[in-house]
Amino acid sequence: MSEEKITLYPSNWLYNAGVVGLLKVLEYNKISFEINEQVIINKSAIKESYEGIFQYHKEVLEEDFSIWGKNKRYPNYIQSGQKEFFKNYYVEALPRVEKNGNKKCSWCEGYFIPLELLEELERKFSGRDFSAFMEQREKFQGIHFAGLGAAITEVPNSFWNLNFSIPICHLCSYLIIFNHLAFIKTSEGEIFINAPDFKLIWDLNRFAENLLQKSKEYGIRKILGSSLLQWAIKRRALLGAWTMMNIEVIVKKRVRRNNTFENIIDYFDLPQDITKILLDYEIASLIEEIKEEKIFDLILQGKFSEIEKANYFVLKAILKLKNKEKISENDPIKKYFTNNNLEYLKKVSGILPELYLKILEKIGR
Ligand SMILES: [Zn+2]
Repeated sequence: MSEEKITLYPSNWLYNAGVVGLLKVLEYNKISFEINEQVIINKSAIKESYEGIFQYHKEVLEEDFSIWGKNKRYPNYIQSGQKEFFKNYYVEALPRVEKNGNKKCSWCEGYFIPLELLEELERKFSGRDFSAFMEQREKFQGIHFAGLGAAITEVPNSFWNLNFSIPICHLCSYLIIFNHLAFIKTSEGEIFINAPDFKLIWDLNRFAENLLQKSKEYGIRKILGSSLLQWAIKRRALLGAWTMMNIEVIVKKRVRRNNTFENIIDYFDLPQDITKILLDYEIASLIEEIKEEKIFDLILQGKFSEIEKANYFVLKAILKLKNKEKISENDPIKKYFTNNNLEYLKKVSGILPELYLKILEKIGR
C-alpha cells in the first residue's frame, strides 16, 4: 500500500495557485486537508475534487465549467470525446499517483500514475492515440495556460521555471485546472498573492478578498499592504527574511493589443522596507489604532518622514481646538486626517511619534 497522503510544497506561482484553487474546492465540499507552510491532502481528495470543481463553479461562481474541447478556461485540455474516459478512468486512477524513479516533475516531487495502471487505462481509452493523450499530461504546454495568454510563451525565462514544454507530473497537470479559482477580481485585474508558504498565501488572499468586499476600488498596492497588516495583527508570527522577500502579487489583465484582447501576466511587489514594516506586529497594531487611510497611504508609499510632519500639524490642531478656534478647510491637518475631533487627535498625537520611531528602528535608519 502506498502512502495515503501527499505533501505539497510551495513552488512557482502557477502551481501554488493551482493548489490554492484545489483547497477552495475542498473547503467548499467539506473535505479536510492540512495547511501550514506545506499542504497535506488525502489522496482520495484528488478524485473528490473533480466532482467538486464542477459543483463549485455551478454553486459559487454560477458558471458552467468545462475542460473539454473548446472552452473558456482550458481549451482542449481534453478532447470532447474523452470526457467520459477522463472522468471514469483517468481521474479514478489519479489518487494512486506515486513517485516514479524514472520520471521527474519540474514543479513538485513528481507524482505519476503507476505503469500497470497506465496499461489498464490504455485499454479503456476512447481516443486513437493514448500516448499523445498521456504526453499532454506530462508536459507543461498550451493546453495548461491558454487562459493565461501569450505572456508565458513570449518571455518564458522571467517565470520561475514556467518554461514552455517542460516536464511536469500527472498530479501537476491536474492541479493546474484549479489555478483560476485562486484569483480574486479587482479593479486592476485579477490577482493572486503568492509567497513561499501555503498558510501565508491562504491567509493573505483571504484577507484581500475580505477587504475587497468593503470596496471594489482598492488598488493592488493597498490590497497587498492591508493583507500584510492584517496578517501581522491576526497571526502575530515572525516570518523569515527570505519568505518576506518573496511575497508578490500576480496580476492577470486583459489588454487590447492589435485590435484583439489578450490576457497578460504582470507582477507587483512592495519595497522590502514597507513589507517589513507592515508585517511587524507592534507597528501594524499602531497603524490599526490610528485608523486613518491617509496615514496608511503615506506608509505604503514609503513617505515615513511625513509621519513626523503629520504629528506637528496634529499638535497645532489640538492647540487650535483647545482655544476654541475652528479648523479651516485648507488647514494642513486635513491632508493627513479625515477625523479632526479633539479627543481623537489627542490619542493620535500619542501614537504617531512611537510609530515613527518604531519604523525607523525596523528599517535601521
Ligand atoms: Zn508535479
